[in-house]
Order: sequence, then C-alpha cells, then structure tokens
Amino acid sequence: MQTTLKTPVTLTGEGLHSGRPARITLAPAPADSGIVFRRTDAVEGDPRVPARWDATVHAPLCTLLVNGDGVSVSTVEHVMAALAGLGVHNALIDVSGPEVPILDGSAAPFVKAILRAGIAPLDAPLMALRILKPVEVRDSEAVARLEPASELRIDFEIDFEDAAIGHQVRSLDMANGAFVRELCDSRTFCRRSDVEYMHAHGLALGGTMENAVVVDGDAVLSPGGLRHADEPVRHKMLDALGDLALAGGPILGRYIGVRSGHTLTNKLLRALFATPGAAEWVECDAEALRRLPGVGVSLADLAAVA
Ligand SMILES: [Zn+2]
Repeated sequence: MQTTLKTPVTLTGEGLHSGRPARITLAPAPADSGIVFRRTDAVEGDPRVPARWDATVHAPLCTLLVNGDGVSVSTVEHVMAALAGLGVHNALIDVSGPEVPILDGSAAPFVKAILRAGIAPLDAPLMALRILKPVEVRDSEAVARLEPASELRIDFEIDFEDAAIGHQVRSLDMANGAFVRELCDSRTFCRRSDVEYMHAHGLALGGTMENAVVVDGDAVLSPGGLRHADEPVRHKMLDALGDLALAGGPILGRYIGVRSGHTLTNKLLRALFATPGAAEWVECDAEALRRLPGVGVSLADLAAVA
C-alpha cells in the first residue's frame, strides 16, 4: 500500500551552496504522483521538478534535479533519504529557492518533521523495483553495484587518508526502522582543506562546523565531535538511500558502494534501466512490504536520535 503525509510540514534553514535562507514544505500528494519538488519563487517555465533518476544532472557536492525547462532544485538527497527511510511514496515538496535547506547536515530534522506530521496510507498498491541480475558501474577505485536480494540492503565501504575517518565498512538491512535508528542523524563530512578551498571559490557558503563533520588528519574539528564513531560511512549510506529513491519507488535488492557517491549511484540507476532484464516492477504483497524501509517505524524510534 502506498503512503503520503497526513498534514503539511515546513522547515527553514540555509542553503548549503548560497548560505541564503531556504524554506521547504512537505505536503500530502495523491497515489501514483511520486515525490515532486516545486519551486515557489519566480522561475520561468514549469516550477515542478520530479524526483527521478533521469532528471538528475552532475553536481560536485550534492544531487541536483533539473526539469525540461531548466528549473532546478539542489541538495535533495537528505530529504529523499528521509522519505525513503520512512516509506513515504508520494509528496509535493515546495521549496522557496534553488536549494533544499541543509539544516544540520543529516536527515534527522526531516525524519522528525515527517513523523510528527504523520504518515497516511493510500488506497493504492505499492510497486517496488526488484533487481533481477547484478549491474555494476566503476570510476577508477569507486564501485557502485546492485544485485538481487529479498530485502533492501545497503553495504558501504570508504577509505580516507585522514585518520579521523580512515577505513570504514558497514552493512544494514533497511527494514523495520533501521534507517531512523542507525543512519538518519549522521552528517555530511569533509576535510578542512576542502572547506578552505570551497570558501575561497565561493562554494558551500552555507557549510559550517555544525552542519558538516570537518576533519583534519586525525582530528575532528567540529564542536562536540562525532555522533557515531563511524558517522562518515553511515552518512554515505544515507546518501545512497536518498539517491536510490530516485528510481521512482522502493528497491528490493542489495546496493554495494565502495568509495561511491552521488554521481556514481546515479550512473548505476542509468545502467540499471538501460540493461534489459536487470529489474522489474512488482506489486508488493504484505510479506514484501514488511521487508521495505519505513514499515513499523514509530516516534519511539526517534529516541535514538532526538
Ligand atoms: Zn549527504
């Protein structure tokens, strides 16, 4: 069964790229409409931007969606992860400008807002994308792969020179609220040298020590340190869930990411849909629904991140 939000919910913050005020309102939407962003500022052309893999264009720091009229919304991955992790399949998302607010750099503020708004069932069957054969893409040492599995599982591995991050591996079955308890509060991370470079070039002007974990060698510079010892790999899994949600529905399959990122995960979806027989849309019965993210999530799961 598909779902949407019970009531609209609004969050305000700043855009990661511009540092300017940004507002987002998530609102209920009918069955089969999927997740659609809508720009509420003055834009030329259609203000609606569908959250789909084929509307995604390459951007260095985030996932950027662009519609046929060139209207764009950036930094969609964390709100997409929250919706996918909570099993919300339909929503109309108004944004006040070109960016979704970065908030605390994780998906937790979106998760809290959606759970407090409530999730409503819709009288329509849910289609999931079942992976039938392995599909893999590479970019030098980075790998992204989807392979058959009866549930959505995300495996991720990162390896950074900085000792504060280093080599991290994690694997998670995404069913039964695992996303809320294990992943949603993990923040974006970057190196101090990257921050200095970006600010010198007018990039990530909304990036702060609070909405990103900033590391320098073996030191974590952000006040308060890490939320989890392996917060960086957890965030990469969060990003992967948000980027996979651009498939247009939940995935029944195993994602394996090694040093992967937004661009490579999108390349993987493009390869998946370009490979005949690699996946099929299947109607979820009660048994399949239980294996998807979101089913069984409650406000109590928020205790882990509140
Ligand atoms: Zn991210």
